[in-house]
Amino acid sequence: MTSSSDTSKRCGDCTLCCKVMEIEQLAKPAHAWCPHCRPRQGCTIYQDRPAECRDFSCLWLVNDLLDEAWQPSRAKFVLTTSEDGIEVRCDPGFPDAWRRVPYYAEIREWAVSGEQHDVTVIVITGRRVVLITPEREFDLGEVGPDERIVRELEGTRVVDARVVRVDPPVEP
Ligand code: SF4
Ligand code: SF4
Repeated sequence: MTSSSDTSKRCGDCTLCCKVMEIEQLAKPAHAWCPHCRPRQGCTIYQDRPAECRDFSCLWLVNDLLDEAWQPSRAKFVLTTSEDGIEVRCDPGFPDAWRRVPYYAEIREWAVSGEQHDVTVIVITGRRVVLITPEREFDLGEVGPDERIVRELEGTRVVDARVVRVDPPVEP
C-alpha cells in the first residue's frame, strides 16, 4: 500500500498488500488486486486512498528483526498481526512460498514460542486457513468472516482445532 514506517525500510516496488488484504471501504475482497493498484508500481489514488490503506503497515515494514528476505514482494506473502497472533497471508499465486528456506523454520519457531504464550500462528491463502503448531498443521479449510477458530488445549499444548460460527450480536 506504499506506506512507510519509522524504520529505514520502505515498500519500494512491493504492492502485495494491495492484493492480499481485504479493504472494506473499497469492497475489495482479499486476494484480488485492488483496481487502483499498479502492481510493483504503486497506488493510483495515493493521495485519496482509504484510511484502511493509510493506516496499514505489514509486519516486515515495522519489525527490524525481519531482514530483506522477508520483504513481501520477495517472500510472496505478507505478515500481519491480529489480536490472536501472527498471520502469514500468502499471495495465492504462490501458496507454498512460506514453506521455503528460510521462512518455514522461522515460522515453526514462532509456533513453538507462540504455544507458550497463547499466540497463534496461521497461514491464510484465500479463505483457507492453516493453524501451525509445534507438532502439526491443522488445515481448517475455508473460514468465513462470521466464523472463528477454537483451539482445544492440554495445558499450553494445542491438541485440536476447529471452526465455529459466531452468532451475530442480538439487537436491543
Ligand atoms: S506488503 Fe508491506 S512492504 Fe509491501 S506494500 Fe504493503 S506495507 Fe509495503
Ligand atoms: S487504494 Fe491504493 S493503497 Fe489501497 S489497496 Fe488500493 S492500490 Fe492499495
